[in-house]
Amino acid sequence: MIDSHCHLADRRFTDPQSILQRAASAGVNSIIVPLSRAEEWHWQPPPPADGLPTVALSWGLHPWFAHPETLASFPRQYLQDAVAIGECGLDFGPRGAPRHWQYAIFRQQLHLAREHRLPVILHACKSLDAIILEMRKFRDLRYILHGARASSQQLAQLGEYDCFFGIGSNMFRASRRWLEALRQLPVERLLVETDAPDQCPPHRRDTATYNEPAFLPDIVQALARQLQLPVARVQQHTTANARRCFSLTA
Ligand SMILES: [Zn+2]
Ligand SMILES: [Zn+2]
Repeated sequence: MIDSHCHLADRRFTDPQSILQRAASAGVNSIIVPLSRAEEWHWQPPPPADGLPTVALSWGLHPWFAHPETLASFPRQYLQDAVAIGECGLDFGPRGAPRHWQYAIFRQQLHLAREHRLPVILHACKSLDAIILEMRKFRDLRYILHGARASSQQLAQLGEYDCFFGIGSNMFRASRRWLEALRQLPVERLLVETDAPDQCPPHRRDTATYNEPAFLPDIVQALARQLQLPVARVQQHTTANARRCFSLTA
């Protein structure tokens, strides 16, 4: 399995090595780590080791931290090793930066993605319609809507794009409307993600302080239940989809 969105660089993960070991025991082979705030841009993953999941990196600036001066120091030199740009996007919830900064910084990252031929990991909070409007000027890009939740109308619009959907812990408390919309998506477009250390699955909260990639199988199972498909098939599809989406070789 591939965790398509995990903040392994988050300071709450004081021992990334042991997180990777537990992920491996749970059957996770690869983890995509978005480095989306300036403090994380120079983070180094634990050295690759036999039996541990491979770690692939994405660089971006999250809309909570959108500030023109911060983007000016964006580490473009790393992008040759990146599997994506992001997470980036728009957040119209209370934690979002001033909107004019969010827009400017999101657009600059879309340009960077085009320049470096990288897919874009999208963060949307109360802002998906606005994001879709921005995407219209960047129809040539590949997108990953992480923490996906959308109406059938929005999904129909996104269907015109090369867009993948990161399914995460909201599977455990999804609205009926979202589940109905989700069932219309082609299974070839689905990814699974933990968004760890946040979004701990409700049934893990008694024993775990934080979410972690070792809990990814819970999401695969919940998704399989919702799609009424065998778990093994959802596992195969989402793994192959993530490889294709991020052009993973390892
Ligand atoms: Zn996000
Ligand atoms: Zn995230």
